[in-house]
Amino acid sequence: MEWERLLSIPVFAVLLQMGFVYYVTVFSFLDDWLGLRTSVGSLNAIIFTSLICYCLFSFFVCVLTDPGRVPPSYVPDVEDSDVSDQETKQPVMLPRKCDTCSNYKPPRCHHCRVCKRCVLRMDHHCVWTNNCVGYWNYKAFFILVLSATLGSIYAMVIVVSSAFRRDWESTGHAFPKVFYVICGTLMMSLSLILGSLLVRHIYLLSHNMTTIESYEATRAAWLARKSGQSYRNPFDLGFYKNVTLVLGPNMMKWLWPTAVGHLKDGISFRVTRDTL
Ligand SMILES: [Zn+2]
Ligand SMILES: [Zn+2]
Repeated sequence: MEWERLLSIPVFAVLLQMGFVYYVTVFSFLDDWLGLRTSVGSLNAIIFTSLICYCLFSFFVCVLTDPGRVPPSYVPDVEDSDVSDQETKQPVMLPRKCDTCSNYKPPRCHHCRVCKRCVLRMDHHCVWTNNCVGYWNYKAFFILVLSATLGSIYAMVIVVSSAFRRDWESTGHAFPKVFYVICGTLMMSLSLILGSLLVRHIYLLSHNMTTIESYEATRAAWLARKSGQSYRNPFDLGFYKNVTLVLGPNMMKWLWPTAVGHLKDGISFRVTRDTL
């Protein structure tokens, strides 16, 4: 584990924001709305605290897990390189070399200019985790986005409910209106941004595609259309298979960020040809 990845301003900013959202939601708005000493108030506090801890754990897994390195001895399998898509007859896995590292790149591997190395099944470089999202930490990243979205929506509901239940006409409020407006806007923005990121990654996960591949696919589809052909993602093995390839075959472990026993080497991937 590379602990020095924690020493970054964006990582610190994320932790600070998580801490702020948690503190104001529980100790200001929830306490003000339901009271932390009531059973329904404490139940909400327990559920929200668990969700934030889960989110925090996924975040640390994402930051500290190496996304995947290319083994120094890696040489592409010549037979694999000859694989062609059944419909388009286009080769899907030509041997590729990294211009910067001068080594062979396995399929779905890309060079990250920030990390200054090739990353297996690279999705993107995430500044907020100060790490690449790749083969070994994509599951944790997906769970992080999921839990952060749920946490933001939960916090937004608590802020809005607290504001609606409040008698604004009476005097002696603990918090001024502007505090509610600022926090409500923050929770709403977070919910929208994280929610749209989650929808995007649900799409990518269900199509067995990375963020980089989705950009490449848009261009490949355009080129194929121009020549009267249709583009097909070679790694798309069907919805359920695609989901299990990332989250694992055991549904009970789908939502645990470190349950990655199902992952292999990140060097070879099944393509649609295998299923035909
Ligand atoms: Zn490289
Ligand atoms: Zn990177």
